[in-house]
Formats: sequence, structure tokens, C-alpha cells
Amino acid sequence: MTLKVGVIGTGMIGQEHIRRLTQVLSAAEVVAVSDIDGARAAAVGPEGAKVFATAGDLIRSNTVEAVVICSWGPAHEEQLLDCIAAGKPVFCEKPLVTTAAAALRVMEAEVAFGRRLVQVGFMRRFDADYRRLKATLDAAVLGAPLMFHSTHRNAAVPEELFYTSDMPLNDTLVHDADISRWLLNDEVTGVEVRVPRRSRRGNDLRDPVMVLLHMGSGALVDVEISVNIAYGYDIRGEVSCEEGTASLPLRPATLIRDIHGVRQLVPADWRERFIEAYDQEFREWIAAAGQGTATGPSTWDGYAATLVADAALRAVESGALEPVRMCQRPSLYGTTLEAAR
Ligand code: NAP
Repeated sequence: MTLKVGVIGTGMIGQEHIRRLTQVLSAAEVVAVSDIDGARAAAVGPEGAKVFATAGDLIRSNTVEAVVICSWGPAHEEQLLDCIAAGKPVFCEKPLVTTAAAALRVMEAEVAFGRRLVQVGFMRRFDADYRRLKATLDAAVLGAPLMFHSTHRNAAVPEELFYTSDMPLNDTLVHDADISRWLLNDEVTGVEVRVPRRSRRGNDLRDPVMVLLHMGSGALVDVEISVNIAYGYDIRGEVSCEEGTASLPLRPATLIRDIHGVRQLVPADWRERFIEAYDQEFREWIAAAGQGTATGPSTWDGYAATLVADAALRAVESGALEPVRMCQRPSLYGTTLEAAR
């Protein structure tokens, strides 16, 4: 059975996912596209795909069985609510939404529908290295996790992007927040932010930043976010436990030996580093969506990440430890952290 998919938002990652759905994976077909810029949607949609003038028209179309949302964050809430109203499984790129109130509205609608329909685009959970790291932690051979050191470095901010000083905290940090919750089976209860000397490569940006996530168990997560590190896209993670440590392997893109010696090239960007993770993320989404539901990162997880981002923005202003207060988890998302995954 081939899943008939409609893609909303045909910019950078929308085009990447259309390529994935049409050229890499076999169980789905992109039958519809829509973008605020209709000409762009028509130009990048696969041959035969219908171009819809609005996201709502695409979602309600009988030819579309499942939806992929790759529009910008502020448009996600309305599009998610339309998908839930239509009872259609939906993959939504991060962020789920941009405010906690919007996340609660989406959660309320999905809970009222009575079945999971939403998967959020936290692709690190599908990366083989992160999965091995989690399996090691879950096996408990190293005892309880005490600290997680997470490093998120981008070579540069894309020139075409209007990138602001808040974005490392409300756009990038969501990945580290989600992977910390998932790896440690724990919730974030508070956030601190420290701003060191600024990199001159970042012009006027607040870059880098150091974030400290306080977890419910008492474990601490430090996150370095640098968005102008120059040398590549470098994602690192090491967990210190009672009986030892476990870390992600360093992932060189290429190892070069020449007359200058030996050197490792790191991946250029997120597309290169996580390409297999995105493929696996969509494989699992297609399987669940074909059954009329969703697995993997949920609306609850998107809500949690939104609260962490909000707390980080407050913390960078106040300089204090800002609390994260989540509502009670609806049973749709599991009764324990592990069951929610
Ligand atoms: P992008 O290149 O700006 O593409 C977004 C596209 O959506 C643009 O074509 C935009 O049109 C269109 N759009 C905006 N509002 C819309 C609406 N209401 N209805 C339909 N189309 C609309 O951005 P991007 O980099 O692809 O990012 C898209 C989403 O993916 C963001 O939420 C971003 O955070 C996320 N993302 C996730 C990852 C990841 O690692 N998981 C990586 C990159 C991006 P205009 O340009 O005319 O506004």
C-alpha cells in the first residue's frame, strides 16, 4: 500500500523531504503540495502532484491520506488543528508550535480525537548513534545518569535566514531539550542560561550560549550552542553515570591523509550529519501513518520543548534559574515517561 502524502511548505526542508519521499523511500507518494508561494510549490512539487492554493484545502482533499508540515513555526498550529479535525496523520517539522498556549490547544484537540495523529520532527531520536547511546543508558549497566554534556555547533548561520539572538534558544535548543528528555527518561524542571564572551564571527549575535537544564531526577544537562563555529556541523554528547560514561562517537565525514598529515573533516551541515536519521524518521512515520496513527516524538514532546524554549528566553533576560511547569500528562501520551515513547 502506498501512502498518499500532501506536503505543506516547500522551502528548504520541504524540498528535502519531498526528495526523500519520492526518491529514497518506497512506501509513499507525494500527491499534493502547497506553499504560501504557489509558484514555488508548483516548481518543486513532483510531477503529477496537485498544487493547492491553501494548506487547509490540501488537508481536506480526499486524495491526501497523510500530511507533512514544513511551513514556518507560527503557521503550524492552524495546520495541525486542521489535520486533527480531518482525522489525518501528520508529520510536523519542529517546532510543534511557537507558544505553550498553542501547544495546549493542539494537545487538547488530539486528546479529544482520541488517537495519536501527530509526530514531531525531532530526528535525533532516529539516529543510530543516539539510539545506541540510549540503549546503553536504558540497560542501566552504568548506573544512574548524573550529567549529560550536549554540544550543538553550526558552521555558520545561513545568509538567507533572518537569524536573531533568540533563535539559538527558541529554535536550536529544542533539539537538545528533546534528546535530553528522551535519553535520560526525564523531564526538564528548570533552565539557566549563561552568555560568555561573544564570538567576533557572530557579528552582533548572542553567540555562543551555555544552557543548563535541570532535570526532575536532579541530573544536569549542559548545552553549548555555537552557531558560527566555522569548521562544520559538530554534534556531540556524553553522559556521565554512576559507574562510567557513554558518548556519541565522533562522526568524521571524511578522514584525509596527505602530505600535511592526517585530518578529519566534520559534516558540513545538519542535512549531511542526520541524513540517515531523517530517512528512518520517515520510514517509521509512513508505517504508523498507514495505520492511521503516529508514533515517535509526540505533541507532548513538542509541548515540553516549547516550555523549555520559553524558559530559556526568560532565563537569558533574568540571569536566574527559570522553572518549567508542565501540565499533567494526558494518558494518550503514556502514563510513564518510557511508555510515552
Ligand atoms: P523555509 O525554507 O523558509 O521554508 C518554509 C516554507 O513554508 C517557505 O516556502 C514559506 O513561504 C512557506 N510557508 C510559510 N508559511 C506558510 C503557510 N502558512 N502555508 C504554507 N506555506 C507557508 O524554512 P525551512 O528551513 O524549510 O524550515 C521549515 C520548518 O522546518 C521550520 O519549522 C524549521 O524550524 C524546520 N526545520 C527543521 C529542521 C530539523 O533539523 N528537523 C531543519 C530545518 C528546518 P515563504 O518563504 O514565502 O514565507
